[in-house]
Amino acid sequence: MQYSYSRIRCFRECPRAFRYEYIDKLKVPEFETIEAFMGSRVHEVLERFYGSILKGSEPHLDEVHGLYADLWDKHMSPAVVVNNETLSAGDYRSAGAKCLEEYYHSYKPFEKEKTIATELMVRIDLLGEGSYKFIGFIDRLDRNGGGIYEIHDYKTSRSLPSQKKKDGDEQLALYELGIRQNMDDVREVDLVWHYLRHNAEIRSKRTGKDIENLKGSLFSTIKRIEESVVDDDFPAYRTNLCAWCAYQEACRDGCRGNAGRQTSLKIYEKSDDKV
Ligand code: SF4
Repeated sequence: MQYSYSRIRCFRECPRAFRYEYIDKLKVPEFETIEAFMGSRVHEVLERFYGSILKGSEPHLDEVHGLYADLWDKHMSPAVVVNNETLSAGDYRSAGAKCLEEYYHSYKPFEKEKTIATELMVRIDLLGEGSYKFIGFIDRLDRNGGGIYEIHDYKTSRSLPSQKKKDGDEQLALYELGIRQNMDDVREVDLVWHYLRHNAEIRSKRTGKDIENLKGSLFSTIKRIEESVVDDDFPAYRTNLCAWCAYQEACRDGCRGNAGRQTSLKIYEKSDDKV
């Protein structure tokens, strides 16, 4: 199996959803939450923005707003759903535009010599011996002098996590492992999250021991996935994440399902029951 951090996270959040997504590959009516839609448009704009900078031209703020509006209109469809009854799609559109404007003012002038790639695909060999391969995408990779790299990640979530939480974040640490495996001159790697709705930046560094612990943590989840496949045991974890799950219908049917699937029909009601 080709792994990604999304797969690991999906299994940890709900093994049942993991089975529907990656093993059964269930076809469900397509939908996208407005939060994800807005995040995708903001990411696209920043990708193109830094793409222009890489080519030597710095777009003006008006062009940033224009591109965002064009992409929003082009991609908007009835499949985009607004779950929050107190907010409209227009509110999310404005929130995304504000994210971009504040980011622009905070980071201008943009240092074109630093960014070396956007939406960079990175391959990671978790244990370094070829058995567990991951793939990931880095929003932006910068290289400063002296082999110092920065992995940048854009977030449009409403919440702003603590420094402690980001110091334990596994996804960018995994990408750091990939950068160290794929680049020759890496001396240091900074992990940088841009929480755009707060116009805030959080930075973190990992030690060699942190990276070893990360490998152990991901390997342990992979082993649980492998056991689940062998035993056909994918319990459903009922949490508030169910409200955003694409498999709610299938999951309900499964809960009423036949005895042949009994081992995989356990329902955990509390989030404390998560892996
Ligand atoms: S609805 Fe909830 S319990 Fe069912 S698969 Fe989705 S996340 Fe898991």
